[in-house]
Amino acid sequence: MKKIGCPVCSNPLSVRAARGRKSNKPFIMLVCDRDARHFRGFITYQEFVKEVMEKTEGKRDISQK
Ligand SMILES: [Zn+2]
Repeated sequence: MKKIGCPVCSNPLSVRAARGRKSNKPFIMLVCDRDARHFRGFITYQEFVKEVMEKTEGKRDISQK
C-alpha cells in the first residue's frame, strides 16, 4: 500500500481498523505515527473498509466486546 504522509510533519500515517461504539460498524482510521493530534482521518465507506481489513488481517486492532 502506498504511504500517505502527515500534512503536518510528513511522517507516514498508520492505518488502523476500528469499530464504532454506537453503530458497531467497522471503519478505517488514518493517524499520524508521531502525534495523533496532527492528523486523524476516518473512512467509513464499507466496501473500502472491508478491502483494507482483509489486507491488514493479523495486525488489526479491533476492539470487540
Ligand atoms: Zn504528524
